[in-house]
Amino acid sequence: MNVFKFGGASVSTPDRVRNVGSILQRYPDGQLLVVISAMGKTTNALEQVVEAFFRGDKDEALRLFEGIKNDHLSMATALGQDDLTYLNDFFTEVEWLLHDKPVRDYDYYYDQVVCVGELLSTAIVSRYLQEAGTENQWIDVRDILRTDNNFRDAQIDWNYTAQKTSEILKPALEQHRVVITQGFIGATDDNESTTLGREGSDYSAAIFANLLGAEAQTIWKDVQGVMNADPKQYEGAEWIRELNYREVIEMAYYGAQVIHPKTIKPLQNKGIPLLVKSFIDPGTEGTTIHNSEVKSLPPIIVYKRQQVLMELATRDFSFVGEGGTAEVYRIFEELKFRPNLTQNGAVSFLCVIDEHPEKVEAFAHRATEHFDVRVTRGLTLLTIRHYNEELVTKLCGDSSVILKQQTPDTLQALLAPKQ
Ligand code: ASP
Ligand code: MG
Repeated sequence: MNVFKFGGASVSTPDRVRNVGSILQRYPDGQLLVVISAMGKTTNALEQVVEAFFRGDKDEALRLFEGIKNDHLSMATALGQDDLTYLNDFFTEVEWLLHDKPVRDYDYYYDQVVCVGELLSTAIVSRYLQEAGTENQWIDVRDILRTDNNFRDAQIDWNYTAQKTSEILKPALEQHRVVITQGFIGATDDNESTTLGREGSDYSAAIFANLLGAEAQTIWKDVQGVMNADPKQYEGAEWIRELNYREVIEMAYYGAQVIHPKTIKPLQNKGIPLLVKSFIDPGTEGTTIHNSEVKSLPPIIVYKRQQVLMELATRDFSFVGEGGTAEVYRIFEELKFRPNLTQNGAVSFLCVIDEHPEKVEAFAHRATEHFDVRVTRGLTLLTIRHYNEELVTKLCGDSSVILKQQTPDTLQALLAPKQ
């Protein structure tokens, strides 16, 4: 059996949903578990609903939700569906919640509201496929994928999820060949909805690929496969035919928006290849990611914009040492915030973090208890794997390099616009 994951862009218009149908028809043999994300930019739109609700602006939250609701109703209508009542329960569940006043924390509400994006999307696509002749079963993944209650970054209960996968998913795949379900969402013991972190559906698909012992997992995207740089940020971006898990984990770690970083482990652990293919041009080869070594990779270029440099210095010239460094990491842990680059000095500690205004403030505030803190904003962190000097000069040439770190494999440079 195979696991397919379709992201939001692959179901963003009625034509694209039809295109998913024709992709599935290219695979008439064997069982398919199909994981589908929320349509287009629905997750972002739902985030706006939660924000309005949580700041107490019920009318705005309901108004924004009405827009999302209409978009989905129009989508279903455009796909030729007349009876749309099957979507009502999803809408009502959110609307009820929006009529209440927030009494629990933000992340809890986030998950209860945002999860509806994947539920609507999969329900609409499943119905469309059914009517277009691809017999399938729709499954609410919250009956299978069990998590803890760490809302917005929920951790998987592997045992429970494995058991339900055997009890529910396996028989469904035997009976229906195509099973459609959601990525990114799960549920707690108390049946509260949870999410796994933005872009988490790649990870959900990998969890099921692992538990079902899939032959392969395919992620369908709007690019030819994995590129060595984001084509929007770098003109010479080229397609990479083959990569190994290790390389992809590194790329994701440095900020390449290729695949959700947690996706690789479940696949690697079972030696399941990951294919990244174009839904626009499904006949082309795409990228294969596997366990074996891959020789002669092109340089891989990752830009992280909106970076903040925090320079922490001891006040009395005492060494930062293990105690100081441990203290800084304690603050990171407390704030659930990860530095993108760090550098130790004798009486200073430098770290580069994402521009996340409240967290940067909170971090600076906490660090001031121990250090003098200097904050520089508006920087770019450039990472090049498999670099060469010519490329480094080319990419750093127009900027001032504030900080540089390199190993034989990877070079990182923190760049500021030249004055
Ligand atoms: N819909 C979610 C998001 O946009 C999850 C996903 O697409 O992977 O982040
Ligand atoms: Mg998405």
